[in-house]
Amino acid sequence: MRVDKFLHAMRIGTRTQVRRLIKDGHITANGEPVISGKQQIDPGNDAVFLDDAPVRYQQYFYYVMNKPVGVITATTDASAKTVMDLFNTTDFRDDLFPVGRLDKDTEGILVITNDGALSHDLLSPNHHVTKVYQAEVTGEITAAQLAAFNDGITLKDGTELQPAQAEIIQFHEIENFTTIEIKIHEGKYHQVKRMVGTLGERVVGLRRIKFGSLTLPVGLLAGNYRALTDDEVAALK
Ligand code: URA
Repeated sequence: MRVDKFLHAMRIGTRTQVRRLIKDGHITANGEPVISGKQQIDPGNDAVFLDDAPVRYQQYFYYVMNKPVGVITATTDASAKTVMDLFNTTDFRDDLFPVGRLDKDTEGILVITNDGALSHDLLSPNHHVTKVYQAEVTGEITAAQLAAFNDGITLKDGTELQPAQAEIIQFHEIENFTTIEIKIHEGKYHQVKRMVGTLGERVVGLRRIKFGSLTLPVGLLAGNYRALTDDEVAALK
């Protein structure tokens, strides 16, 4: 693999920054200065250094994003802004993709990775990964209505859902809407909105606050992302 490609893939810098680091003599491979970005290296075996720091080979990358409202959960789109457009040029890799999907008007926690096996496991119906959403729902919702979700409900199109747990966080009397928290263990299309639809009400705001072992990090503003720690990745597996 070309050393400049490797350095960029390991998030050392943009292509321009990598070129400059090589030109200025900051990069060595097996103790020898790298003088051209075209030089071939074996990422798993060669010892590449940026000054005194080893550039370790990393195959998989994991991020948690606070997806904002208004962007779509996709890798590319002809016209709409995607979650991948929120990555900066150093972190962006064209093999990254979002794990699962949040609607355009839903915000909250979204995992982005290039680890296809982990993504497959997290999305598999057999793994029952728990997701927790906070929803603003029209009208005054009662605990009795939410209790119906406990046994599993059937959606209008006949889809049978597994049991889900929901509770009332607050009824906003003046604006006449209720904030509820809802925990689901599967990920059907528009699931929360359709569940609320069975109560004769509508979701007007939706935010995912938990995905499996991960909680939306405090202070991670909508539109921002950060790398997951090794412990966070291990807990997801
Ligand atoms: N349920 C929904 O209705 N929408 C989402 O984005 C996620 C869950």
